[in-house]
Amino acid sequence: MSIQSSDAESGRYWDRVRGLGFALPYCTDCGQFHFYPRPACPFCGGTRIAPARASGKGEVYSYSVVHRAPKPAFAAGIPYAIAIVATDEGPHLLTRIVNVDPDSIRIGMRVRVCGPAAMPEPLFEPDEPQVPKETP
Ligand SMILES: [Zn+2]
Repeated sequence: MSIQSSDAESGRYWDRVRGLGFALPYCTDCGQFHFYPRPACPFCGGTRIAPARASGKGEVYSYSVVHRAPKPAFAAGIPYAIAIVATDEGPHLLTRIVNVDPDSIRIGMRVRVCGPAAMPEPLFEPDEPQVPKETP
């Protein structure tokens, strides 16, 4: 799974992000982050946009737990959670939540970037203590 786009603007963005860690497009004209990468700021129309390091933290805005593999290649990973994470900087990202029992994910759960530190495949994991499952 990847959030990487194949269009030219997005490709140039990901090339510039490598080495920065978790970064989002940042408009130096109005001082706001946005996502997805695009040639003009969606808030002010400014074109002075560059990747800027972001906190890598946010909260679960929405999620879905996949129990039936859409293709055989995904079968080993089920169940897994697809989520929209609202980053603390504002942009919402389509991603996966990992290192957690998918049934314990909740709307509003605090999460942080994990796995490969650099884009373009940021995954998120819980950023709060997990309550262990009770055993009968
Ligand atoms: Zn702007």
